[in-house]
Amino acid sequence: MSRYVGAVCKICRREGMKLFLKGERCFTDKCAMEQRDYPPGQHGQGRIRTSEYRIQLREKQKVRYSYGVSEKQLRRYYQLAKRRKGVTGDYMLSLLERRLDNIVYRLGFAASRAQARQLITHGHIIVNGHKTDIPSVLVNVGDHVEIKEKSRKLDIINQALENREQRGTLDWLEVDREAMKGHVKALPERKDMSMSIQETLIVEYYSK
Ligand code: SF4
Repeated sequence: MSRYVGAVCKICRREGMKLFLKGERCFTDKCAMEQRDYPPGQHGQGRIRTSEYRIQLREKQKVRYSYGVSEKQLRRYYQLAKRRKGVTGDYMLSLLERRLDNIVYRLGFAASRAQARQLITHGHIIVNGHKTDIPSVLVNVGDHVEIKEKSRKLDIINQALENREQRGTLDWLEVDREAMKGHVKALPERKDMSMSIQETLIVEYYSK
């Protein structure tokens, strides 16, 4: 199963929570969840049958769509986390947070993770002085992420930076808005991830 490229607001409505996939629109009254807070489709307002498997699957899908990763990638993060000592779910989420596309989004250089991925693949992002065009690269403590000098006038980047505050600040990242540079101060911990996710359900899903 590859990355979803269809209408994204439908996903939020299906999962019953805002996944912030559309950038600035997500913070306005135009957000589909503000207007139609029920699953899409003809039977969207009907009764939904629940099962243990369905609950685990939906939780996994929330994370997958939110971070814009494929099924194969998410399973790989789970497997990497399982091999480590400590809480598997916490480490799996930490790996997702450390992806370069997420960092570019969290620093405020892009309005959504999808936009961040586009900036990276188009060569606008520099990591530790080198152009990096792979969105799945994992950042480490001390890494510096910045916008390429020639790209600093791009409207989408400046607009995203202007609206950065509405997404809140993060203690583990430091950003210099004027210089369009960011710095990873620490690795993200579970408490740094505000998303309302029960990662234990995802671990249960994959451990079957
Ligand atoms: Fe989700 Fe954003 Fe669409 Fe709202 S506007 S439904 S948060 S993607």
